[in-house]
Amino acid sequence: MAGVDVVVTGAGGFIGGHLVRAMLAEGRTVRAVDIKPLEEWHQLHADAENLVLDVSLLEDARRALDGGADEVYNLAADMGGMGFIENNKAACMLSVLISTHMLLAARDAGVNRFFYSSSACVYNAEKQTSPNVVALKEEDAYPAMPEDGYGWEKLFSERMARHFREDFGLATRIGRYHNVYGPYGTWEGGREKAPAAICRKVATAVLTGNHEIEIWGDGEQTRSFMYIDDCIKGTVMLTRSDFVEPLNIGSSELVTINQLVDIAEEIAGVKLQRNYNLDAPKGVRGRNSDNTLILKEFGWEPSTRLADGLEVTYRWIYDQVAAKLGKA
Ligand code: NAD
Repeated sequence: MAGVDVVVTGAGGFIGGHLVRAMLAEGRTVRAVDIKPLEEWHQLHADAENLVLDVSLLEDARRALDGGADEVYNLAADMGGMGFIENNKAACMLSVLISTHMLLAARDAGVNRFFYSSSACVYNAEKQTSPNVVALKEEDAYPAMPEDGYGWEKLFSERMARHFREDFGLATRIGRYHNVYGPYGTWEGGREKAPAAICRKVATAVLTGNHEIEIWGDGEQTRSFMYIDDCIKGTVMLTRSDFVEPLNIGSSELVTINQLVDIAEEIAGVKLQRNYNLDAPKGVRGRNSDNTLILKEFGWEPSTRLADGLEVTYRWIYDQVAAKLGKA
């Protein structure tokens, strides 16, 4: 196979689908790779070379990079929101096979740049016990006490990417994403994250007339949420830069889950009866992205206002829910 400009793994998923679109818009040749059958991809771009491969297998990882590539974005992972990662720790850790084999294949294919999508879940849990969280700086990942399962895999794979750079000269770049949301994200089925779940619940309430909403925990846990366009911009910017340390790619607009619901209600024009499920998975108490480093290095940070990004996301999820309920 001839080489391409860009390879995206996990291209059938949320962020990967947007990244493929952005790379095609730049006029680059793109190979999009995912384990899911094509009909399940969140977005399928006809101008890309779309391959169904399991890159946890070394031979498939090599096929993904056949002929070489200028940039590789390794986004493939078995992942989901808190409901998924708290109950599927072994599955999350098996993504280490993807990280390992993609790095080996990239080293051998002579790839120019290799991006690895890490996560805010690598941060030390002890620094996230209060809702009035002090935002997480990159150095707060150590001493290591990440989110069990998923976070350990991410931290290990970051570290491996670093050593591939130091020992093998593979130009790896590591972004630590903080909660990404937007259209074409997972919005049902158990892997969805809070913004999509809240939008789905609000849209369902609007469409069915049952004006109630279940919230996981007491709603006072805090988070920041990054709009997908900012995620793509930060990812490409970091990949093409000379900055080699792990970097936060996240919004620093901190909200409680209750405030997230307020925003979604305002967009939808409803007020719902809130029922708090205190037994549901809730993750850490508070988490925010400290953007000092990205601002210093790049003079930029993800800055789409939550109210703006959520409006676009809500409209998209509303349409999905309406179609499912036969009310489109
Ligand atoms: P996603 O689940 O929508 O996409 C991941 C894709 O990887 C899926 O389509 C899945 O089928 C694919 N995949 C899984 N195993 C594979 C394999 N063996 N071979 C090929 N493809 C495989 O997730 P996303 O939200 O688009 O996340 C992309 C990356 O960013 C992941 O690595 C994730 O851990 C990381 N991340 C995401 C967020 C977020 O908020 N979405 C936050 C932090 C980190």
